[in-house]
Amino acid sequence: MEKEIRDKYQAVIGLEVHAQLLTKTKAYSSDLNEYGSRPNSNVSPITLGHPGTLPVMNKKTIEYAIRLGLATESTIADHQHFARKNYFYPDLPKGYQITQDTTPICTKGKIYIQSTDGTEKEIGITRIHMEEDAGKSIHDVDVYDTLVDLNRAGVPLLEIVSEPDLRDSDEAYNYLTEVRKLVRYLDICDGNMEEGSLRCDANISVMLKGSKEFGTKVEVKNMNSIRNVQRAIEFEITRQIEMIEKGETISQETRSFDALKGITISMRTKEAANDYRYFPEPDLPPLYVSQEQINEVKATMPSLPRDLFLKYTKEFGLSDYDARNLTDSKEIALYYEEIISSTKNFKGAANWVMGAVKSHLNQFGIEIKDFPVPAKAIARLVQIIDEGKISASIANQKVFPVLLEKPNTDPLTIAEELNLIQESDSSSIQGFIDEVLRQHPNEVERYRSGEKQLVGFFMGQLMRVSGGKADPKAANGLLRKSLEG
Ligand code: ADP
Ligand code: MG
Repeated sequence: MEKEIRDKYQAVIGLEVHAQLLTKTKAYSSDLNEYGSRPNSNVSPITLGHPGTLPVMNKKTIEYAIRLGLATESTIADHQHFARKNYFYPDLPKGYQITQDTTPICTKGKIYIQSTDGTEKEIGITRIHMEEDAGKSIHDVDVYDTLVDLNRAGVPLLEIVSEPDLRDSDEAYNYLTEVRKLVRYLDICDGNMEEGSLRCDANISVMLKGSKEFGTKVEVKNMNSIRNVQRAIEFEITRQIEMIEKGETISQETRSFDALKGITISMRTKEAANDYRYFPEPDLPPLYVSQEQINEVKATMPSLPRDLFLKYTKEFGLSDYDARNLTDSKEIALYYEEIISSTKNFKGAANWVMGAVKSHLNQFGIEIKDFPVPAKAIARLVQIIDEGKISASIANQKVFPVLLEKPNTDPLTIAEELNLIQESDSSSIQGFIDEVLRQHPNEVERYRSGEKQLVGFFMGQLMRVSGGKADPKAANGLLRKSLEG
């Protein structure tokens, strides 16, 4: 599409995210909530929706919802009730989902994202409510039949509905990245979009720039990665602008994303939409959340990625880039936190994590939990570099590889055993300097007749003859003095 046409329009996006909760048991029964079990093995009569069975609310679901509510600065409702959302589907044995309709547990929250211009932007969270998943229909295993696995039926979900505050596909990408980070930091969902434990429906509309009224939205489903959500949104924006430019009107509909073709396809129009006939769930009592209960959850809240980001940038003086790099994954952030509990050289510690440690993880395709070197040993490396015992490059090239083999050895011992301790003792450094000056009489002559920049050359030579062991700080002064003659 021509840029000129595209630039006339503004996209508006709101996302609905479903997060499968990492509870041991299901939302309303004691059946195991376990991914990958033998099909239809976690299915009691409650899950199967047999007449006469009664649901019982899983307290963990409520706790997890409160955790996310606190993390998103939401208002947490004190009185709530559950609702039945009625529809027929072969993998929904009860014929309805138990959800929350008019009384979601969380409302009016916010999530901070990086906006397209790099600044921080606040995205409103309309609501977060608790509900249950349906089972799984499997169409591609048997040629003739659809198979149904009900292990997933009744697994607890949180649905997170954003305000239509996102303005382009990059912001949607960043928003989902933040949501995934949040649920992972909170330990309430594994955030795996490929396996479907985090799912996203995207609502997209376009309007002329400057318009006060949003266009008609289209909902797109079936994206199995954050990248595919972004692709689906890009496709939809272009498709909708092209339609409007042709004088056609956008109709409210649900479309499905085809990842192979990179296009969206109509599934159903508004007219064909389900009427779910919500009504209050008669088998569950109303839910009351007390302030004490909220305080208890508050007391167990972990550090959140944004808090760490702000601490690293504002208190530690790290760049936004470094802070984001360190907080992208909770496990990396915790490792860094452990290092800085033993050193105050925040930037030095950050460089080790982002450099040598992460390269090692990438090279071997392992997670930080399988990284052999304890955080304390990295802190020790930072310390002995700061004390001038070894240089940073010697630490990287010589000490770190040995530390990987012998992770429980003091890095200083390794440096001593390899004879790598820097010479800061002036008489031995002077010995090296004398040798360098003897070897390069012409350069000494040139230095003395004004080519002061040759000091760099002499430092290089000094490092060479000392095997990298001359402490540069101590050596610099001595070298200049000797050169001045
Ligand atoms: P519905 O009643 O069709 O479910 P909602 O008002 O509940 O619609 O909104 C569902 C999602 O669609 C929310 O994430 C919301 O932010 C988003 N949304 C609402 N209106 C628009 C619009 N005009 N363009 C894009 N997204 C929208
Ligand atoms: Mg809605």
